[in-house]
Amino acid sequence: TADLAELDPEIAGHLDAELDRQREGLEMIASENHTAAAVMQAQGSVLTNKYAEGYPGRRYYGGCEHVDAVETLAIERVKDLFGAAFANVQPHSGAQANASVMHALIRPGDTVLGLNLAHGGHLTHGMKINYSGRLYNIVAYGVDESTHQVDMDEVARLARENSPKLIIAGWSAYPRQLDFARFREIADEVGAYLMVDMAHFAGLVATGLHPSPVPHAHVVTSTTHKTLAGPRGGIILTNDADIAKKVNSAVFPGQQGGPLEHVIAGKAVAFRIAASQGFRDRQERTLAGARILAERLSQADVAEHGISVLTGGTDVHLVLVDLRDSPLDGQQGEDLLAAVDITINRNAVPFDPRPPMVTSGLRIGTPALATRGFGEEAFREVADIIAETLKAGAAGAAGPSAAAGTGDETLAGLRERVRALAAAH
Ligand code: PLP
Repeated sequence: TADLAELDPEIAGHLDAELDRQREGLEMIASENHTAAAVMQAQGSVLTNKYAEGYPGRRYYGGCEHVDAVETLAIERVKDLFGAAFANVQPHSGAQANASVMHALIRPGDTVLGLNLAHGGHLTHGMKINYSGRLYNIVAYGVDESTHQVDMDEVARLARENSPKLIIAGWSAYPRQLDFARFREIADEVGAYLMVDMAHFAGLVATGLHPSPVPHAHVVTSTTHKTLAGPRGGIILTNDADIAKKVNSAVFPGQQGGPLEHVIAGKAVAFRIAASQGFRDRQERTLAGARILAERLSQADVAEHGISVLTGGTDVHLVLVDLRDSPLDGQQGEDLLAAVDITINRNAVPFDPRPPMVTSGLRIGTPALATRGFGEEAFREVADIIAETLKAGAAGAAGPSAAAGTGDETLAGLRERVRALAAAH
């Protein structure tokens, strides 16, 4: 019954420090967000005590009447939000949602066509040492070397040559929209299932600001914690009753045991929030912020340092900065932005000449700042701070004082500007 700070001051201290970090700095990791206090309240609730193997109305444990009501609300809300006929809200994470779909629809040894990890795909789309790469025969499609966009003729060619049982459309680092209708056409032509993993852009789909994959894909997976801004977790959607049945049995008992009903309660709250006008406004600001950032990082004073934006812009919530022609590498870029209290991640760009631990790219996203209330003016300021930081870093990396790096004074001034933005939001 003791309070956390009393019972375990060490953990409580780390939680307080993390809250300060999130408040004082600017979170621009594209896959992160600040979830609502109400979501965290649901997640930190008594539902964490409850075992509920099975599904609402069909449990293997007693005492499930309240968690049944919660899970049913989550299912109904997410079906409404995305216009899907069936939903499973039990996957503990996005990775487990994807594993469950593969478990449901294909067999070990079957061929899967997915986006190359080095070109923006996810680990679960076929990385060698991930379960997906170990269990299935992976054929990867990539982006075109000049446009850096997925070339659908290439996807069609690879599908015809390799006869996959499953085609995966979706990404972790890609700044444009995919052609879901064309993906489905290709899947139908070769007799494959189409799975769309909308983990990154689900919040945009929920608000109609990105085309929905639900009418096109056999099955759609997502996380609930990125643009969707809910608790960490996964969901699976489909319009096909037969696939829904297979997916349910693949999630439980195929892949998981007891569902995390406290997280499912948090998901239900997040789906309710996502249906609001306020959430749509937030997603609009997310997109506007990413466009402002792409425009600022495409200007001549930045280009001069060999820094550009992949595909020349963005249609989504993130920008991929291309440092292949810059003396500044991904690791240095990430460290410099960390020094001014902006958190982002370095990311390999397609055809990256630098090693994966260094990389020639930065992935910068706007969802968490939009949640904090950033509008266009604040996004213009943050875009300028990022441009100035990277310019100073590139000049330092190219100059004779490469080891010394950027002047402390420049960084201190930029950090002050970040602090002012953080304090105002
Ligand atoms: N799918 C995509 C496209 C992702 O980007 C991610 C997370 O980065 C996942 C799945 C996995 O989600 P989780 O980290 O919840 O397992």
